[in-house]
Amino acid sequence: MRKSDNRRHILALSGGKDSAALAVYLKDKPGLEYVFLDTGYELPETYEYLNRMRAILGIEITVIHPERSFENWLNLKGGYLPSPQQRWCTEVLKIKPYEKYIGSDYVYSYIGIRNDEDRDGYISSKDNIIPFYPFVEDGLIYSDIEYLLESSGLGFPEYYKWRSRSGCYFCFFQQKIEWLNLYKHHKKSFIKAMSFEKIGQNEKRFTWSEGESLGELVQRRGEIEESYNKRSPMRPNNRSKKLVDIFQNHGPTACIVCDI
Ligand code: SF4
Repeated sequence: MRKSDNRRHILALSGGKDSAALAVYLKDKPGLEYVFLDTGYELPETYEYLNRMRAILGIEITVIHPERSFENWLNLKGGYLPSPQQRWCTEVLKIKPYEKYIGSDYVYSYIGIRNDEDRDGYISSKDNIIPFYPFVEDGLIYSDIEYLLESSGLGFPEYYKWRSRSGCYFCFFQQKIEWLNLYKHHKKSFIKAMSFEKIGQNEKRFTWSEGESLGELVQRRGEIEESYNKRSPMRPNNRSKKLVDIFQNHGPTACIVCDI
């Protein structure tokens, strides 16, 4: 049994708003360590946001990399792309590297899940890693997160103007309109994501987006945008809305583990 003063306290930043707000909320907590699990397939806006956190909050962020790249793992998995049903990417790119970094230390892992969310976040199977949810404990909801980010000067990550969540640029939790936005903002990354798909005629198809390849999705651009504009509150009189506000309660199931 370890002594309590040997316990480490770690906040794993996802590059998204909630864990950033938690860093603001806990910025005076002595001894708190900050880490970022870098999959190697992050958006440039995520790195800019981490730099902003370093500068504004005066914190050091340890960047943890997986031992093998996603491409390596994809080959090992026989080209089988991860999906909401088979989310092997989270395990190999984030959970295992995080657990390896912690080793056998006794750790409180701080998680930015809000009190108005219905999800659990990362729960380690290792009994030396104890999840701790300050926003849930203290009853903080989305408007509190907005306040923490705006009042600290940190604001939201830039990508929230066109995408609703943090994580890999090829994350399969994206909506079709977000894929199109990736195409507009980071075409090279979009093309890289395309290269991971299998769409040959004589092989089993593996595509990121349900029912179509990214190439087919781009060809349907007009149709997807029209359908999005019809159902979206992002109308000409409401252009200041961030995509994250729009999808906050309406998007597909979030990447619960990648928001650790
Ligand atoms: S952000 Fe998406 S693609 Fe990246 S590890 Fe998490 S679930 Fe997988």
